[in-house]
Amino acid sequence: MTDTAKEAFASRNYRLAVEMYERCMKQQSPSFEVLFGYGESLARCGRLRESVDVYSRCLALGGNVPTDKLRHLVNALLEELGLSTASDRRQSWRGGAELGASFACPECEGALYQPVSLDCGHTFCRACVLEAPSCKLCGQRREARLETNVLVQRLAEKWWPAETEASGARHEADAMLKKGHLGQALERYDLAVQLGE
Ligand SMILES: [Zn+2]
Ligand SMILES: [Zn+2]
Repeated sequence: MTDTAKEAFASRNYRLAVEMYERCMKQQSPSFEVLFGYGESLARCGRLRESVDVYSRCLALGGNVPTDKLRHLVNALLEELGLSTASDRRQSWRGGAELGASFACPECEGALYQPVSLDCGHTFCRACVLEAPSCKLCGQRREARLETNVLVQRLAEKWWPAETEASGARHEADAMLKKGHLGQALERYDLAVQLGE
């Protein structure tokens, strides 16, 4: 059954692949391979939220998910989240990884740190949009509450750990500088530089 599902996927019959994988999973508790194939098929069918759930289960199984295989899923997700604008603005980030560009904040151009997605669909670091009354890309007034986009945060931390940490250190440093803690701010800036910002 797994082979049939794989064949369906290879021949781009993604809906059929989803069905096949679902049957596999009814028969036995799914292996990493089956779950991963299922997630990928869901993504290709545009069922992104479900594919993210499945993908989380893959990670929970402790499998090592190859980044290149996730490219399609992540790109589709980013489009859904309205992050493609960030990638349009910055063609390259850290060696030209197209995926990395999508995780760059349009304001500070560092890795998204404590990302928040506004109603207009644009995503920034919390600190980068906190004091602005409207989106810095499209000008739409932003809602009062800013909720962390946990999905984007997890993806950024997983795939760009150093960049995300560096960006975090820099934002902390900015905050300390504002409070007048110069010494601590410098330490954090230093860390950010060491991490490659
Ligand atoms: Zn930012
Ligand atoms: Zn916007």
